[in-house]
Amino acid sequence: RGGLEFKHVSFGYGPERLVLNNVTFKVAPGSTVALVGPSGAGKSTVMRLLFRFYDVNEGAVLVDGQDVRTVTQASLRAAVGVVPQDTVLFNNSVRYNIQYGKLTATPADIISAAKNADIHDRILTFPDAYDTQVGERGLRLSGGEKQRIAIARTILKDPAIVLLDEATSALDTNTERNIQAALARVCANRTTLIIAHRLSTIVHADEILVLKDGEIIERGSHESLLAQS
Ligand code: ADP
Ligand code: ADP
Repeated sequence: RGGLEFKHVSFGYGPERLVLNNVTFKVAPGSTVALVGPSGAGKSTVMRLLFRFYDVNEGAVLVDGQDVRTVTQASLRAAVGVVPQDTVLFNNSVRYNIQYGKLTATPADIISAAKNADIHDRILTFPDAYDTQVGERGLRLSGGEKQRIAIARTILKDPAIVLLDEATSALDTNTERNIQAALARVCANRTTLIIAHRLSTIVHADEILVLKDGEIIERGSHESLLAQS
């Protein structure tokens, strides 16, 4: 589970300009792929097509061999989890925020998701941390802690594919690296990970795709691309 493929995908938000032009790539189940490239290159657009926020103009997007246009929205949402750039937390407990979207989760599931996402010790050891309010008068969370909650919330649903669209780029480099490393551990051999990011802070990727002006201009291993730069 978690394989995906873009086959000669072209897409434009309007008729005047293509934002993706004949993009083709394949991602093996359980692997990690980084999409890098300058702002405006089309990284977010690739992700939006993957969870079918928009439909391609030409070509096809396949998840586990199935054209996403033939999959129900419900099963696509179950298969593809998204960790957004700016996590909006509910003005409710940390527990609620992690549990949100999977209301059948047991406390053990939540703690395991939180540990896997490497939630800051401060939260894990805080008395009754999971029932602590996240609002103005309650526990203040740092940007890094919020992103860890977002990741825990996503992985608890155990999607086959997780998309990180610049999900950690507002954080300092150290926090970013720690979060990416934690995510790589959680996802190893189970979950396909697609990370849109700047090359310099990619911790690990089986393959890096470099996008520019809607085209893949380079692809290769982390090592080979770093060696060139
Ligand atoms: P990246 O994620 O690499 O920064 P995007 O996929 O967000 O790139 O954007 C690719 C191109 O599409 C850019 O030229 C951007 O201005 C344009 N674009 C992105 N979103 C929209 C939208 N909702 N409507 C129109 N144009 C858009
Ligand atoms: P980050 O660089 O990850 O965004 P911050 O500097 O915002 O980190 O926060 C560092 C630590 O201070 C975190 O543990 C966070 O929970 C705590 N914190 C941040 N703002 C406040 C606040 N106004 N009151 C109490 N604790 C705070």
